[in-house]
Amino acid sequence: MPASQSTPPVYRFAPSPNGSLHLGHALSAFLNHDMAKASGGRFLLRIEDIDLTRCTPEFEEMIYRDLVWLGLDWETPVRRQSEHFDAYRDALDRLRDMGLVYPAFLTRGEVKARVTAYEAGEENWPRDPDGSPLYPDDDKLRDEAERAELIARGVKHAWRLDVMKAMARVGKPLTWRETGSGNTETIAADPAIWGDVVLSRSDAPSSYHLSVVIDDALQGITHVVRGKDLYAATAIHRLLQELLGLPEPVYHHHRLIIGSDGRKLSKSEGSTGIAALREDGLLPADIRRLVGL
Ligand code: GLU
Repeated sequence: MPASQSTPPVYRFAPSPNGSLHLGHALSAFLNHDMAKASGGRFLLRIEDIDLTRCTPEFEEMIYRDLVWLGLDWETPVRRQSEHFDAYRDALDRLRDMGLVYPAFLTRGEVKARVTAYEAGEENWPRDPDGSPLYPDDDKLRDEAERAELIARGVKHAWRLDVMKAMARVGKPLTWRETGSGNTETIAADPAIWGDVVLSRSDAPSSYHLSVVIDDALQGITHVVRGKDLYAATAIHRLLQELLGLPEPVYHHHRLIIGSDGRKLSKSEGSTGIAALREDGLLPADIRRLVGL
């Protein structure tokens, strides 16, 4: 279902407070903010802090400080994902009721061992667009009694989406609308390239994929503007939106800021950190120029 054209557009910047913001984040934040202002739309900030082991209040404070300094203003209250685990649990329950998720018991080490043994032969194990091995089929093939027994024994597990079954349930090819090139293009979405993605982890009651689609819908986001590193993930987001009956935003994946080593910036790259650049005496206008705006 396309987003309604009669309501003002709604944009969001959705950082995770697991490190300090760098120039790549600044580009995303500026673009969302500027596009919202230019179209008479709304600009929201969402804190994506479901990973309680890596996100900290200090990094969250730094995000607010950096964004204020950059001259951005957003609507309050800010949605913090850690305050909404129930919403993600409900969505997972719905997918479970549809028979589309299964408990996944293999540890990272077990998956790695499987892949290494397989790759000792001729062929490579299939990998997702981020280079991670696709999850083996073992857990999908277990029967209900075996799953119940493992859970009763307290074996740690994540919940994974059975992507092939989910696509069969949707029953039609998926696409998304992409405006990142300047024109609106219709992109064919192939969620199968990700294999059976995690929707809730053993140590976190949700995952990025699940919480991002729930929140984009709950916050009425009409335009998702984010880095090209999340382009391929959009296929999973479209699948989840269809399964859960959520509206389909327009997507705009923007260029990435590349570091001196030719790779996309990471949160540990101090020299391009917004706070470090501020302390070096740069002004918000300099940051705009540095990100090519
Ligand atoms: N929280 C994600 C990040 O920090 C961004 C998610 C999104 O924009 O969809 O990279």
